[in-house]
Amino acid sequence: MNFLEERILKDGVVKEGNVLKVDSFLNHQMDIDLINEMGREWKRRFADKNINKILTIEASGIGIACIVAQHFGVPVVFAKKAKSINIDGDVYVAEVKSFTHKKVNQVILSKSFLNSDDHVLLIDDFLANGDALQGLISICNEAGATVEGIGIAIEKGFQIGGTVIRNFGYDLESLAIVEGMNHETGEVFFRKQD
Ligand code: 5GP
Repeated sequence: MNFLEERILKDGVVKEGNVLKVDSFLNHQMDIDLINEMGREWKRRFADKNINKILTIEASGIGIACIVAQHFGVPVVFAKKAKSINIDGDVYVAEVKSFTHKKVNQVILSKSFLNSDDHVLLIDDFLANGDALQGLISICNEAGATVEGIGIAIEKGFQIGGTVIRNFGYDLESLAIVEGMNHETGEVFFRKQD
Protein backbone atom coordinates (compact mmCIF):
# COMPACT_ATOMS: atom_id res chain seq x y z
CA MET A 1 0.00 0.00 0.00
CA ASN A 2 1.44 3.40 -0.91
CA PHE A 3 1.47 6.63 1.11
CA LEU A 4 -1.72 8.03 -0.47
CA GLU A 5 -3.70 4.82 -0.06
CA GLU A 6 -2.64 4.70 3.60
CA ARG A 7 -3.79 8.29 4.09
CA ILE A 8 -7.15 7.62 2.41
CA LEU A 9 -7.73 4.70 4.78
CA LYS A 10 -6.79 6.84 7.75
CA ASP A 11 -8.61 10.09 6.95
CA GLY A 12 -10.90 9.57 3.95
CA VAL A 13 -14.64 9.45 4.58
CA VAL A 14 -16.98 7.40 2.41
CA LYS A 15 -20.25 9.15 1.64
CA GLU A 16 -23.43 7.83 0.09
CA GLY A 17 -23.54 8.02 -3.70
CA ASN A 18 -19.98 6.76 -4.22
CA VAL A 19 -18.38 9.98 -3.03
CA LEU A 20 -15.08 9.85 -1.17
CA LYS A 21 -14.36 12.88 1.00
CA VAL A 22 -10.70 13.72 1.36
CA ASP A 23 -11.15 17.33 2.35
CA SER A 24 -9.13 17.04 5.56
CA PHE A 25 -5.90 16.51 3.58
CA LEU A 26 -6.32 17.01 -0.18
CA ASN A 27 -8.94 19.39 -1.48
CA HIS A 28 -10.06 21.70 1.29
CA GLN A 29 -7.47 21.55 4.05
CA MET A 30 -4.29 20.53 2.24
CA ASP A 31 -1.40 18.50 3.67
CA ILE A 32 1.54 20.01 1.83
CA ASP A 33 4.00 17.28 2.84
CA LEU A 34 1.66 14.69 1.37
CA ILE A 35 1.18 16.66 -1.85
CA ASN A 36 4.94 17.13 -2.08
CA GLU A 37 5.30 13.35 -1.89
CA MET A 38 2.76 13.08 -4.72
CA GLY A 39 4.83 15.56 -6.76
CA ARG A 40 7.99 13.50 -6.16
CA GLU A 41 6.18 10.33 -7.23
CA TRP A 42 4.81 11.84 -10.47
CA LYS A 43 8.24 13.28 -11.24
CA ARG A 44 9.62 9.75 -10.91
CA ARG A 45 6.86 8.20 -13.05
CA PHE A 46 7.14 10.87 -15.77
CA ALA A 47 10.94 11.13 -15.61
CA ASP A 48 11.38 10.41 -19.33
CA LYS A 49 8.85 13.05 -20.44
CA ASN A 50 9.77 16.51 -21.58
CA ILE A 51 7.13 18.53 -19.74
CA ASN A 52 7.11 22.33 -19.91
CA LYS A 53 3.70 23.12 -18.39
CA ILE A 54 1.17 21.73 -15.94
CA LEU A 55 -2.50 22.14 -16.78
CA THR A 56 -5.35 21.71 -14.32
CA ILE A 57 -8.91 22.85 -13.74
CA GLU A 58 -10.53 25.19 -11.24
CA ALA A 59 -10.83 24.78 -8.32
CA SER A 60 -9.43 21.84 -6.39
CA GLY A 61 -6.75 20.94 -8.94
CA ILE A 62 -4.98 24.26 -8.58
CA GLY A 63 -3.36 23.88 -5.17
CA ILE A 64 -2.17 20.36 -5.94
CA ALA A 65 -0.79 21.41 -9.33
CA CYS A 66 1.17 24.28 -7.76
CA ILE A 67 2.98 21.99 -5.33
CA VAL A 68 3.58 19.37 -8.02
CA ALA A 69 4.92 21.99 -10.44
CA GLN A 70 7.83 22.69 -8.11
CA HIS A 71 9.11 19.16 -8.79
CA PHE A 72 9.02 19.79 -12.54
CA GLY A 73 10.22 23.42 -12.45
CA VAL A 74 7.45 24.53 -14.81
CA PRO A 75 4.49 26.94 -14.65
CA VAL A 76 0.89 25.98 -13.90
CA VAL A 77 -2.04 27.11 -15.98
CA PHE A 78 -5.63 26.31 -15.04
CA ALA A 79 -8.89 26.22 -16.96
CA LYS A 80 -11.34 28.65 -15.39
CA LYS A 81 -15.06 28.21 -15.05
CA ALA A 82 -16.52 30.79 -17.43
CA LYS A 83 -18.73 33.38 -15.77
CA SER A 84 -20.28 34.79 -18.93
CA ILE A 85 -21.66 33.34 -22.12
CA ASN A 86 -20.04 36.23 -24.00
CA ILE A 87 -16.78 34.45 -24.52
CA ASP A 88 -14.42 36.24 -26.87
CA GLY A 89 -12.13 34.64 -29.42
CA ASP A 90 -8.99 34.85 -27.32
CA VAL A 91 -9.84 31.78 -25.26
CA TYR A 92 -10.16 28.05 -25.76
CA VAL A 93 -13.53 26.76 -24.53
CA ALA A 94 -14.65 23.31 -23.38
CA GLU A 95 -17.84 22.05 -21.76
CA VAL A 96 -17.35 20.05 -18.57
CA LYS A 97 -20.03 18.20 -16.68
CA SER A 98 -19.43 18.51 -12.95
CA PHE A 99 -19.57 15.18 -11.12
CA THR A 100 -20.05 16.78 -7.71
CA HIS A 101 -22.46 19.60 -8.70
CA LYS A 102 -24.32 17.79 -11.50
CA LYS A 103 -24.26 20.71 -13.92
CA VAL A 104 -22.43 21.66 -17.09
CA ASN A 105 -19.80 24.39 -16.89
CA GLN A 106 -17.99 26.04 -19.71
CA VAL A 107 -14.31 26.27 -18.90
CA ILE A 108 -11.96 28.65 -20.64
CA LEU A 109 -8.23 29.10 -21.03
CA SER A 110 -6.53 32.11 -22.55
CA LYS A 111 -4.86 31.37 -25.88
CA SER A 112 -1.86 33.31 -24.55
CA PHE A 113 -0.98 30.49 -22.16
CA LEU A 114 -1.19 27.33 -24.27
CA ASN A 115 -0.02 26.66 -27.80
CA SER A 116 1.44 24.02 -30.11
CA ASP A 117 4.92 24.31 -28.53
CA ASP A 118 3.61 23.09 -25.20
CA HIS A 119 4.18 19.61 -23.73
CA VAL A 120 1.68 19.32 -20.95
CA LEU A 121 1.16 17.27 -17.80
CA LEU A 122 -2.51 17.28 -16.74
CA ILE A 123 -3.08 17.13 -12.97
CA ASP A 124 -6.31 16.72 -10.99
CA ASP A 125 -7.48 15.47 -7.63
CA PHE A 126 -10.09 12.92 -8.80
CA LEU A 127 -10.94 10.95 -11.91
CA ALA A 128 -14.52 9.64 -11.95
CA ASN A 129 -16.35 9.70 -15.29
CA GLY A 130 -13.53 11.57 -16.98
CA ASP A 131 -15.47 14.67 -18.01
CA ALA A 132 -13.05 17.12 -16.41
CA LEU A 133 -10.06 15.43 -18.07
CA GLN A 134 -11.78 15.24 -21.44
CA GLY A 135 -12.42 18.99 -21.23
CA LEU A 136 -8.73 19.61 -20.57
CA ILE A 137 -7.70 17.23 -23.36
CA SER A 138 -10.03 18.99 -25.80
CA ILE A 139 -8.46 22.35 -24.88
CA CYS A 140 -4.99 20.86 -25.52
CA ASN A 141 -6.16 19.51 -28.87
CA GLU A 142 -7.58 22.90 -29.84
CA ALA A 143 -4.27 24.51 -28.89
CA GLY A 144 -2.23 21.86 -30.72
CA ALA A 145 -0.40 21.16 -27.44
CA THR A 146 0.92 17.65 -26.66
CA VAL A 147 -0.45 15.81 -23.63
CA GLU A 148 2.66 14.06 -22.29
CA GLY A 149 0.92 12.53 -19.32
CA ILE A 150 -1.88 12.70 -16.81
CA GLY A 151 -1.43 12.58 -13.03
CA ILE A 152 -4.49 11.86 -10.92
CA ALA A 153 -4.43 11.61 -7.14
CA ILE A 154 -7.48 9.37 -6.73
CA GLU A 155 -9.08 7.43 -9.57
CA LYS A 156 -12.45 5.84 -8.90
CA GLY A 157 -11.77 2.65 -10.83
CA PHE A 158 -15.40 1.55 -10.78
CA GLN A 159 -16.38 4.56 -12.89
CA ILE A 160 -15.69 4.77 -16.60
CA GLY A 161 -13.15 7.64 -16.80
CA GLY A 162 -9.90 5.69 -16.35
CA THR A 163 -10.83 3.12 -19.00
CA VAL A 164 -11.87 5.79 -21.51
CA ILE A 165 -8.71 7.86 -21.00
CA ARG A 166 -6.39 4.81 -21.18
CA ASN A 167 -8.18 3.55 -24.30
CA PHE A 168 -7.41 6.90 -25.95
CA GLY A 169 -3.76 5.95 -25.35
CA TYR A 170 -2.86 8.54 -22.73
CA ASP A 171 -0.21 7.81 -20.11
CA LEU A 172 -2.43 8.03 -17.03
CA GLU A 173 -0.78 7.65 -13.63
CA SER A 174 -3.25 7.50 -10.75
CA LEU A 175 -1.60 7.30 -7.34
CA ALA A 176 -4.57 5.52 -5.77
CA ILE A 177 -7.23 3.58 -7.65
CA VAL A 178 -10.35 2.91 -5.61
CA GLU A 179 -12.12 -0.26 -6.73
CA GLY A 180 -15.00 -0.03 -4.30
CA MET A 181 -16.30 1.72 -1.22
CA ASN A 182 -18.91 0.97 1.40
CA HIS A 183 -20.49 3.96 3.06
CA GLU A 184 -22.03 1.83 5.79
CA THR A 185 -18.77 0.32 6.99
CA GLY A 186 -16.49 3.11 5.74
CA GLU A 187 -14.32 0.55 3.90
CA VAL A 188 -12.29 1.52 0.82
CA PHE A 189 -10.77 -1.10 -1.51
CA PHE A 190 -7.85 -0.33 -3.81
CA ARG A 191 -6.68 -1.82 -7.09
CA LYS A 192 -3.28 -3.44 -6.68
CA GLN A 193 -0.59 -1.45 -8.49
CA ASP A 194 3.14 -2.17 -9.03
P1 5GP B 1 -15.12 13.45 -13.58
O1 5GP B 1 -15.14 14.69 -14.43
O2 5GP B 1 -13.94 12.56 -13.85
O3 5GP B 1 -16.43 12.72 -13.58
O4 5GP B 1 -14.97 13.94 -12.08
C1 5GP B 1 -13.81 14.60 -11.69
C2 5GP B 1 -14.10 15.74 -10.76
O5 5GP B 1 -15.23 15.46 -9.92
C3 5GP B 1 -12.93 15.98 -9.85
O6 5GP B 1 -12.22 17.11 -10.29
C4 5GP B 1 -13.53 16.15 -8.48
O7 5GP B 1 -13.58 17.53 -8.19
C5 5GP B 1 -14.92 15.61 -8.56
N1 5GP B 1 -15.12 14.29 -7.94
C6 5GP B 1 -15.49 13.14 -8.56
N2 5GP B 1 -15.65 12.15 -7.69
C7 5GP B 1 -15.37 12.65 -6.49
C8 5GP B 1 -15.38 12.08 -5.16
O8 5GP B 1 -15.68 10.90 -4.90
N3 5GP B 1 -15.01 12.91 -4.15
C9 5GP B 1 -14.66 14.20 -4.38
N4 5GP B 1 -14.30 14.93 -3.31
N5 5GP B 1 -14.67 14.77 -5.60
C10 5GP B 1 -15.02 14.00 -6.64
